[in-house]
Amino acid sequence: MTPVADHLDPYARATWTPAGAADARLPAHAAGWLRERIGLRDVRTPVVHPDVPESALPGDARAALAAIVGDEHVRTDARTRLGRSGGLSYLDLVAHRGGQIDVPDAVVAPADPDAVQRVIESCVEHDIAVVPFGGGTSVVGGVKALRGDKAAVIALDLARLDRLVSVDPVSRIAVLQAGVVAPDAERMLAAHGYTLGHFPQSFERATVGGFAATRSSGQASAGYGRFEAMVEGVRVATPRGEWRLGVAPASAAGPDLKQLVVGSEGAFGVITEVALRVRPIPEVQRYEGLVFDGWAAGVAAVRALAQDGGRCSVVRLSDPQETEVGFTLKGGWKITALRRYLRARGVVEPCLLVLGWEGRDKADLAARRRATLRLLSGYVSLGTAAGEAWRHGRFAGPRQRDALMDAGVCVETLETATHWSRLDALRAAVRTALLDSLTTAGRRPIVACHISHSYETGASLYFTVLVPRSDDPVAQWTDAKRAACEAITGLGTISHHHAVGVDHAPYLAEEIGGLGVDVLASVKRELDPTGVLNPGKLVVGRRPAR
Ligand SMILES: Cc1cc2nc3c(=O)[nH]c(=O)nc-3n(C[C@H](O)[C@H](O)[C@H](O)COP(=O)(O)OP(=O)(O)OC[C@H]3O[C@@H](n4cnc5c(N)ncnc54)[C@H](O)[C@@H]3O)c2cc1C
Repeated sequence: MTPVADHLDPYARATWTPAGAADARLPAHAAGWLRERIGLRDVRTPVVHPDVPESALPGDARAALAAIVGDEHVRTDARTRLGRSGGLSYLDLVAHRGGQIDVPDAVVAPADPDAVQRVIESCVEHDIAVVPFGGGTSVVGGVKALRGDKAAVIALDLARLDRLVSVDPVSRIAVLQAGVVAPDAERMLAAHGYTLGHFPQSFERATVGGFAATRSSGQASAGYGRFEAMVEGVRVATPRGEWRLGVAPASAAGPDLKQLVVGSEGAFGVITEVALRVRPIPEVQRYEGLVFDGWAAGVAAVRALAQDGGRCSVVRLSDPQETEVGFTLKGGWKITALRRYLRARGVVEPCLLVLGWEGRDKADLAARRRATLRLLSGYVSLGTAAGEAWRHGRFAGPRQRDALMDAGVCVETLETATHWSRLDALRAAVRTALLDSLTTAGRRPIVACHISHSYETGASLYFTVLVPRSDDPVAQWTDAKRAACEAITGLGTISHHHAVGVDHAPYLAEEIGGLGVDVLASVKRELDPTGVLNPGKLVVGRRPAR
C-alpha cells in the first residue's frame, strides 16, 4: 500500500472554484445556531488521507492504452487515482476521510471520440472494467471504481473532450464534446449568442456528457426543460462500435433510442458528443422572493403556475424547515425582524417561493412576470432582494459541506418526484422515515425540503438533512437513506435527477418492474456483451440468458 500525503483531498474537491473558497467556511453564527438547533457537540473530524493500493492494471493493457492515448495520459500515480475515486455524495466524502474507498487502477484520458472508441475496444480485449468519469459530481455512486468480475478497472477521464464541435444557428443546435464542463459550455456558446440554460447546483464541475448520462435537471428547468429535452443527438462509443442517433427534432421511426442512451449512466456506452438545442441569451433577468403561509398554500401556488401557464424560468418553493434554515444561515437577514414583519401580515409558517424570469427585453420580461403573478394570491412579497440572494448563493451550498463535516455534521440530500395528488403524502413519508432513523438522544435532525422542478402533473421533492454525525457515519446515513428509499418506493420515483448509480439500483425493479430490469439487462448485453462498462451501476438485476 502506498501512503498518500497530498492527494486531491475532499476539501479541495468541495472548494469548487478559487473564487468560491470564501464560501467554503462555516460562518460563526451558523455554527452557533446549528449547535443549538441540532445538538451539535464541539467535535473536530479532520480529513484522514487513505492508503491507496498498488495499481493492478496489467502491463500489456497499460501499453495498449498508452499506444492509443499517449503514455502521459495513462496515469497510475496514487494522487491522480485518488482524485478519480468516487463522486461527491456524503459517503464519498466520508470515504475520503479515512473510510473504505474504491480506487481505480489507472486514469486514462483520451483526446477525442475516436480514441474513446479504441480505448473501449482495448478494455474489452484485455477484460478491464471502464468507469466513464465526467465531472465526478455523482451523488449516487455512479463513478465508484467498481471492478465487477474484472481484474482491473480504469477511470475513463473525459476531461480532454472539451471542444465545441459546431453551431447550427438556423436550427439552433450546438454539438459539444462530452467532457465540456458546464461553465465552459456557457462561455463557448455565449460567443455565438446562445445559452443552454442548464444550471444544476453542480454547474461548476459537471459535464455535458454527465448531464446526458444522468438525465440531469437544472434550476431553470421551468423555463428551459430538463437536460434530456435539450438533447437532439448523441455520439456513443460502445464495445459493439460507434452509435450515432438523432437526425430530426421528432420522429415516429420506432421508440426513441436516443432516450435509451440518455440516462444510461455509462452502462451502455460512453457518450462522446452531444447535439443540444440552444437558445439566445436572455437580455434581462429578474428574481423575486414571495412568502406563503404554510406548505399547502405554497404547493397550491406552484401547481397553479405549472398547470395554468406561469411563465417563469425558475420556480423554487422551500418548505417551512428549509425556509427557516435559509433565512437563519444567510446571516444577512435579520431573522427576528423578518418573522415579525411576516407575522404582522398573517404569515405564521413562512414558505419561501423564489421566482425567476428571463426575457428578450424589459417588455417581454414584464409580460412574463404579469402573467405569472396573475395566477398567485395570498403571498407577502420580499421583492428582488430575496430572489437575488438565492441567485447569488445558488452554487455555494456544496462548498460548505466539508466545513460542516469538519464540524461533525452529517449533511446530505436526496430527491424524488411524484404526481401532485401524492406529493404531500410523499413528503410526509420521507420526512418521517428520516426523522425516525436519525433522531436519537441529543441528536435533533433538520429535514428540510423544496420543490425545484414542477410539471403540469407533478413535481420533484428535494430533501436536505443536517444531523450530528454518529460514531459510525456510514451506518448512520446508510440506514437513514434506506428508510427514505423504502418510504419513496410506491409513492414516487427513486430519482428525479440524481440517477440510479449504485445507491438506487436495489430499488429500480420496484419502479420499472422485473420486466423493465430484464429489458435494460438485455440492452446492456447487446451493447456490452462482456460487461466492461461501469459494473454495478444501473443494471445490476437479472441478466437473462440468450
Ligand atoms: C453538490 C451537488 C449538487 C448537484 N445538483 C444537481 C442538480 O441540481 N441537478 C442534477 O441533475 N444533478 C445534480 N447533482 C448530481 C450530478 O451533478 C449530476 O448527476 C450530473 O449530471 C453529473 O455530471 P458529471 O459530469 O459530474 O458526471 P459524473 O459524476 O462524472 O458521472 C455521472 C454518471 O454518468 C456516467 N458518465 C459521465 N460521463 C459520461 C459519458 N460521457 N458517457 C457515459 N456515461 C457518462 C458516469 O459513469 C456516472 O455513472 C448534484 C451533485 C452535487 C455533488
